[in-house]
Amino acid sequence: MSHQRPAFTVACEECGVDADLESANGIVDFYRRHHRLTGHDATITRVDLAFELPTDGDLETVVADLESRYDDGVPIGVVAAAMDEQGVSVGDTLAEIYDVRMTGALYEPRDDHLAAV
Ligand SMILES: [Zn+2]
Repeated sequence: MSHQRPAFTVACEECGVDADLESANGIVDFYRRHHRLTGHDATITRVDLAFELPTDGDLETVVADLESRYDDGVPIGVVAAAMDEQGVSVGDTLAEIYDVRMTGALYEPRDDHLAAV
């Protein structure tokens, strides 16, 4: 039986801890759990996807770019991974997602997945 490497690694640099995750939204779960316990932010240190992430553009542009890859919304963890490439932390990306959703430019077709309007 072959073992596939987990696709993502997320880390808290302050604590020196990291976690290998198979699903993109595991990044979001890690952040929420770690932030609740410690108040710390998180960064994504490894991304292993079958396609290249967009490396520029604001949040709406990144979601619009990635949307063609997914049938029912882009997992927030993948959006966070793309924003991390631009030096934006997971916490900052989640805060920005909240703000942009309030403007109505993005919506959640299902939990923790984003689509552009
Ligand atoms: Zn920490």
